Amino acid sequence: MQKDNKNKLILKEGSKIGVVGGGPGGSFFSFFAFTLASRMGINIEIDIFETKNFTNTGPAGCNHCGGIVSESLVQMLSADGIVLPKQVIRRGIESYTLHLEHGTTVIDKLLREQRIVSVFRGSGPLGTAVSSIQSFDGYLLELCEKKGAKIINERVTDAENEPDGITLITGKSKRKYDLVVGAVGLNPRTLKIFQKIVPLYIPPKTTKTYISEYYLKTETINKFFGNSMHVFLLKTPHIEFGALIPKGNYVTLVLLGTEITKEIADGFLSLETVRSCFPEGTELKEINSCLCFPSISIKNAKNAYSDRVVLIGDSSSSKLYKNGIGAAYITGKAAANTAFLDGISGKDFKKSYQPVCSGLDIDNAVGKFIFHVSTIIQNSSFLKKVLFQMVVKEQKNGGSKKEMSSMLWDTFTGSAPYKKILRRAINPFLVARLFWNIILQLISPTNIRKSGAGHRSSLSLDEKKDQ
Ligand SMILES: Cc1cc2nc3c(=O)[nH]c(=O)nc-3n(C[C@H](O)[C@H](O)[C@H](O)COP(=O)(O)OP(=O)(O)OC[C@H]3O[C@@H](n4cnc5c(N)ncnc54)[C@H](O)[C@@H]3O)c2cc1C
Repeated sequence: MQKDNKNKLILKEGSKIGVVGGGPGGSFFSFFAFTLASRMGINIEIDIFETKNFTNTGPAGCNHCGGIVSESLVQMLSADGIVLPKQVIRRGIESYTLHLEHGTTVIDKLLREQRIVSVFRGSGPLGTAVSSIQSFDGYLLELCEKKGAKIINERVTDAENEPDGITLITGKSKRKYDLVVGAVGLNPRTLKIFQKIVPLYIPPKTTKTYISEYYLKTETINKFFGNSMHVFLLKTPHIEFGALIPKGNYVTLVLLGTEITKEIADGFLSLETVRSCFPEGTELKEINSCLCFPSISIKNAKNAYSDRVVLIGDSSSSKLYKNGIGAAYITGKAAANTAFLDGISGKDFKKSYQPVCSGLDIDNAVGKFIFHVSTIIQNSSFLKKVLFQMVVKEQKNGGSKKEMSSMLWDTFTGSAPYKKILRRAINPFLVARLFWNIILQLISPTNIRKSGAGHRSSLSLDEKKDQ
C-alpha cells in the first residue's frame, strides 16, 4: 500500500485487510469489502482474526445476545442476497405478549411480511446435545470464508503503527496490513490495543446485563410460548426491559437495565407474572442450562478511526438496547463503502463514515428519551393501565390503525429508528386518543377489565381476586 499521486491512501489490487473479530460486524464488513472489490475489478486479501469457534456450545462459541434479528435487518440481508437458512433460525416471532402488573395482552405483528427471527449466536446453550443448531455468527463467517476470507483462529494481542501499514500481533504471528478493521465488540483488552493505534479513540461506555437459557420440551414451548416473545414492563428496580424469547427447545431470558446482578435477576424470576409464563411448578433453577452477564453499550465510542484503521459494530456505534446486530450491519457496510469508494485515511473516514456513526448517536439520544418516558410509565400504575387499555382495544378492534401497538412493536423489536418511533408518538391522533383514554380511566376505574375480556388478554392475579 502506497500513497498515490495525490497523497491519498486507497485500497488497490493486492491490498491486504486485517479484520479483528469475526462477529457480525467483522463478517458484514468483509462481505461488503469482497463485493465492492469485485465490482471495482480488484483482488484483495482479507484475514479475519477470531478466537471463538462458533461450532462450540455455551460461552466458548457464543457472542452473548438475545438473538432477535429485527425485520429491518432480515429485509436488508435478503436484499444483499443473505437469506438465513432454516438451521440458523430457531423460531419466527409472530407476536409479542406484553406483561404489565395489570394483565397480559398479545400484540400481533402488524403486517404479513414483517419477519423477525430468533437465533443462537453460537451452536446453542451449554449442554446442548450435538444438534441441527447452526450458529448465526458461524453462518456469516462461513459466507465470508466462501468469498475468500482467511479465518485465523488466534487472539490479537498487540498492534503497531508502521509508516506503510499496521502490524497485527498474535501469540503465533506478526502480519502487516494496509487497512485494519476493529470489530472486537466490547472486549476491553482488545479495545485498549485499538486505543494505542487510534490515539483519539474513546471506547464505548457499558453496563452489565443478564441472559439465561431454559431448557424445556419443544411441545411445552409450543404450548406456553408458541411463536410469541414475552415482554415485561414491570416496576422492577434496575430493569428497564425483560423478555423471554422462544428458540427451539430453549427459552432465552434477557434483562436489560443498569448493572444487573444475580440477585436482581433472581428477584425478577420470582415474580408471579414471570413464573406464570412457564408450566406450573417449573423449577427455573433446575432447567437453567446457561447464564451470563454480558456488557452492553450505553454510550457509543468517539473518533473510531484514523489513517488505515476503522472500528465498527459495538466497538464503534451501536443501537441503544436494541438491534445491535443491525447496527453492526450499518457500520460494517458504511466502513467498507468508505474504504473502497473514498479511501482509508482518517480524513476519508471522518468525511464518509463518521456521519453514519453520528446518525446512530442522534437516534440513541432520542432512544434515551423514549426509555426515560417508558420508565415513568413503568413506575406509574395509572399510566400503565391507560397504555394497557389502549393496546387491548387496538388488538380487539382489528383494522390497520394500531398506533400504540405499532409503536410498542417497533420499540421492542428495534426495527424502526427511535426517531421514527418518537414521530409516531407525537402524532396528534394518538395524543388525542391517549388523553381520551386517560379521561376514561379517570372516570371508570374498571374500564380495563371490560375492554380486556375476550381478546387473548388476561387480568392480573390481584384483579382476578378482586372480581
Ligand atoms: C443482553 C444482550 C442482549 C442483546 N440482544 C440483542 C438482540 O436480540 N438483537 C440484536 O440485534 N442485538 C442484541 N444485542 C447486541 C448484539 O449482541 C451486539 O450489538 C452485536 O453482537 C455486535 O456485533 P459485533 O460484531 O460488533 O461484536 P461481537 O458480536 O461482540 O463480536 C466481536 C468478536 O470479536 C472477537 N474478538 C474480540 N477480541 C479479539 C481479539 N483480540 N482477537 C481475536 N478476536 C477477538 C470476539 O471473540 C467476538 O467474536 C444484545 C446485547 C446484549 C448484551
